[in-house]
Amino acid sequence: MNKSVIEAIEQAEGTLFSFEILPPLKGADIEALYSGIDPLMEFKPSFINVTYHREEYVYKKREKGFLEKISIRKRPGTVGICAAIKNKYGIITVPHLTCGGFSREETENALIDLSFLGINNILALRGDPIKSEARFVPNEDGHQYAIGLVDQVMQMNQGSYLDEDMQNKSKTNFCVGVAGYPEKHAEAMSMKSDLKHLKEKIDAGAAYIVTQMFFDNQKFFEFVDKCRAMGINCPIIPGLKPITALRHIEFIPKTFGVSFPEELSDQLENCSTDEQVRKIGTAWCLKQSQELKAAKVPCLHYYTMGKSDSVKEIVSKIF
Ligand code: FAD
Repeated sequence: MNKSVIEAIEQAEGTLFSFEILPPLKGADIEALYSGIDPLMEFKPSFINVTYHREEYVYKKREKGFLEKISIRKRPGTVGICAAIKNKYGIITVPHLTCGGFSREETENALIDLSFLGINNILALRGDPIKSEARFVPNEDGHQYAIGLVDQVMQMNQGSYLDEDMQNKSKTNFCVGVAGYPEKHAEAMSMKSDLKHLKEKIDAGAAYIVTQMFFDNQKFFEFVDKCRAMGINCPIIPGLKPITALRHIEFIPKTFGVSFPEELSDQLENCSTDEQVRKIGTAWCLKQSQELKAAKVPCLHYYTMGKSDSVKEIVSKIF
């Protein structure tokens, strides 16, 4: 079973369902992850994405008050989790691969691992700056932008590796998705320049786009129209997140550079408990999902952020 996401979309008769999960925090058991996936399996997801989390720097207090800067990865395991899920559920898994944290050589090696595991789908991303840095800094000999990563994967799909003297240059068979931003990427000068760079990723060989979460479908529809006007003709998959906790009200706009429409923020303003937020957020996301499905989007892709209850409530009414 080595189907690609794009094949799944092309062969589908209607809107597909997919979701994204996070690797558990280091030390946690994979069973907890499965217990979040299990309730969603009855709705026949077409693929599951697994995020990638690069290193962060923390300061540890040492003797005589010295602080030691330590690099740690709190959520390792993206590739292993993809392989485990693929084996357990027989489903397409899509590891996220970032430029950040990888040299070109390390990227090549990661892609070779994935290929050996029969995982031939990736979402190619630049990655965010690490928390202690104001802007994104690539690794030495790493890619500055996601397009560099897309290019490298496409080279390997042509049998071209970094080491020119290699004897066996078998072609990989990766299907690559990339990220798109209905409300513009936070660092982009303008929507126009962001779309220009998005088109470059598609022209380089990416097969489809998954969007950042949004809470106003109109923004998604306008984004799709702008993409089409620019000549971006690939499937565009909307990314959806049900708001489920009080802390999301500040965290989501700040972290993902997205806004809540007035109607939603008016409702959220009166909430004082997580349960109240969860009810409103779930109902809002259901309404978004119904409208998007009616508009015949290729797939509804949900960000679970480790919690599947609300997503289950939504997809049970849709799929
Ligand atoms: P790029 O496409 O490289 O764009 C980054 C910025 O640079 C944009 O402003 C773009 O307009 C600009 N740009 C692009 N190319 C050029 C160029 N040639 N010259 C000048 N400017 C250029 N992050 C993680 O760390 N791990 C994850 O698992 C993860 N999963 C994600 C999944 C989805 C669906 C989305 C939408 C985002 C995800 N992110 C993840 C966050 C993502 O890494 C960040 O949003 C990051 O800041 C940008 O990534 P990108 O791939 O869109 O970058």
